[in-house]
Amino acid sequence: MSMEKSATKSNQNLCFPRRRGQIKMKILKSMVKSAVGLASMRSQSGRGGSGSGSGSSTPSTATPSGYDSDRKLNFTNKIYNFAIDFNTIGQRGLHDQKEKMKILQILRRKLSSSQIRSTVTPSLSLAFFYRQLHSSSNPASFGVAFDIDGVLLRGSNPIGGAPRALKRFYDDYGTLKVPYVFLTNGGGVPESKRAKELGSLLDVNILPLQVIQGHSPFKQLMRRFENELIVAVGKGEPAEVMSEYGFKNVLSIDEYASCFDNIDPLAQYKKWTDKLDGNQSSKSKHTALSNDPCSQRVAAVFVVSDSVDWSRDIQVLCDILRTGGLPGKEIAHQPPLFFANDDLAYQALFPSERLGMGAFRIAVESVFNAIHPAALKYTSYGKPNPSVFKNAETVLMHVLQSCHTNHQVDGRKQFFKTLYMIGDNPSVDIKGARQAGSPWFSILTRTGVFKGKENHDDFPADLVVDTVEEAVDYILSKECIS
Ligand SMILES: [Mg+2]
Repeated sequence: MSMEKSATKSNQNLCFPRRRGQIKMKILKSMVKSAVGLASMRSQSGRGGSGSGSGSSTPSTATPSGYDSDRKLNFTNKIYNFAIDFNTIGQRGLHDQKEKMKILQILRRKLSSSQIRSTVTPSLSLAFFYRQLHSSSNPASFGVAFDIDGVLLRGSNPIGGAPRALKRFYDDYGTLKVPYVFLTNGGGVPESKRAKELGSLLDVNILPLQVIQGHSPFKQLMRRFENELIVAVGKGEPAEVMSEYGFKNVLSIDEYASCFDNIDPLAQYKKWTDKLDGNQSSKSKHTALSNDPCSQRVAAVFVVSDSVDWSRDIQVLCDILRTGGLPGKEIAHQPPLFFANDDLAYQALFPSERLGMGAFRIAVESVFNAIHPAALKYTSYGKPNPSVFKNAETVLMHVLQSCHTNHQVDGRKQFFKTLYMIGDNPSVDIKGARQAGSPWFSILTRTGVFKGKENHDDFPADLVVDTVEEAVDYILSKECIS
């Protein structure tokens, strides 16, 4: 059952109590002692053969830098194991930055007093040690999915302290320490291109893997339509998107419509199409068609992103769908139709919401059903579909694996205790997270579609906050990460 919560100050102090912290410190001190002691013993035994004094060893096998490679390796292993142990305890609750620094200071003192201090290479500095803590740390038990429009961006403008919030998921070296993805119903460009755009707008390094768009599930249909003629609808680069997924014969609806004279009776009144027609004189680079596309049957239509020209697209879609994929011919069985999402509205730059793909779907369906004997058949993807959240969980596990290259993350054993969905649209983001169930935890921001003071009546979130930055504050406090 969901309930409204607020990000209060009390959430800032969710780490273990002071007494437990003191016990951990004792354990860690003894670990430092034993790690350094063991390293010293190994160091002394390694020196026995050489007979050289401390700090002036003459290694039997000297490296170019003058250090005994075996002793260096042994000591490195000790420190490395200590780092893993240290971080294992950290994962259980010791995340306070001051305490981490205290441990590092203890280690530095021990290293300074140790005879083997002189054999430690400069690369075994505290910076190296600290870096190892992150790269070898145990996998996080939580992940985060961000909606984009109305949460991180409005148009192309960052909102709600988004760049600051995202930076907190990286360490000082720019390494990702918390697995997160962008889970958006938007799209229109390939994931690789969107990752670059988002990285530039939000000032963080984003992997294509981290971008899940409304049309991302279309790639699962590639084998079914790989060599068939398909039409891709929407703003941006719908044909490029489908091409990147592996579809071999794709035409954008702009390209497809241009193959038919007079298919759009209003084309002459659309001034913007003049430039478009000039660009489309050459054959599409997304098709391997040897024949005129007009004579080939369209096997499926994919609405990749928001339609730019509703009147033309509704007309052409009805032509394709009523005739079995051969506009101008007899009525025949309807080819499959796929929508990347079913959002009725979304928050863009204009103060009130704009009509989305769900509104376009209603328009197509209404017109089609009015002129055709059988009702329109279609499939919609995107949030709030539970399969989208299941897929996001799988992708987050892949992102987690990419964060922890030194640790093999076993997907069969590793699982997320909590997955946070941060969104602005109650009927899409929050409804979806609620339907997906455990371990999803929904956070609703007030920077987009939702602007209410309290929680949403129909789809209440687990937490309501003003901005995405507040949401990230809450998550990191709850997970005891500074
Ligand atoms: Mg949104």
